Amino acid sequence: MALTKLDQLYRAVILDHSQHPHRKGVLEKATAQIELKNPACGDVIQVQLNIENDKITDVRFDGSGCTISMASASMMTDAIIGKSLDEALALSKEFSGLVQGEDPEHEDDLGDAMMLSGVAKFPARIKCATLSWKALEKALADNGQTGVDGQLKHDE
Ligand code: ZN
Repeated sequence: MALTKLDQLYRAVILDHSQHPHRKGVLEKATAQIELKNPACGDVIQVQLNIENDKITDVRFDGSGCTISMASASMMTDAIIGKSLDEALALSKEFSGLVQGEDPEHEDDLGDAMMLSGVAKFPARIKCATLSWKALEKALADNGQTGVDGQLKHDE
């Protein structure tokens, strides 16, 4: 099956994010952090957030995994930095819908993450794409529960 020009563009953007990920590393003083695993593929992702006044002021991710999981984490940090907690959660829900074949309402806010819409055709890879976003959701939830020092770790 020949790839369309659009598929080639999407693939190039995804590869670029996985090879040159944005905000990969460690925050010195994260206010919330979480690690999630996707046993089906072997992806492991840590997400760290700095949250000030209900806003995500900084974010990093670290870990290892397949191209889709790493690219998605990089795209996720682009999408949520500077957003309020509610906005970030709403984006996570939209992304989850996107990779299951739904049309998102806020394409511009998802940014490069829109490039992963093709994952909907590969159900086995959906968890790879959503892993970093699920980690974000859990980190936000723990932030509300544990305050400034959330050091919790979860398996999926
Ligand atoms: Zn994966």
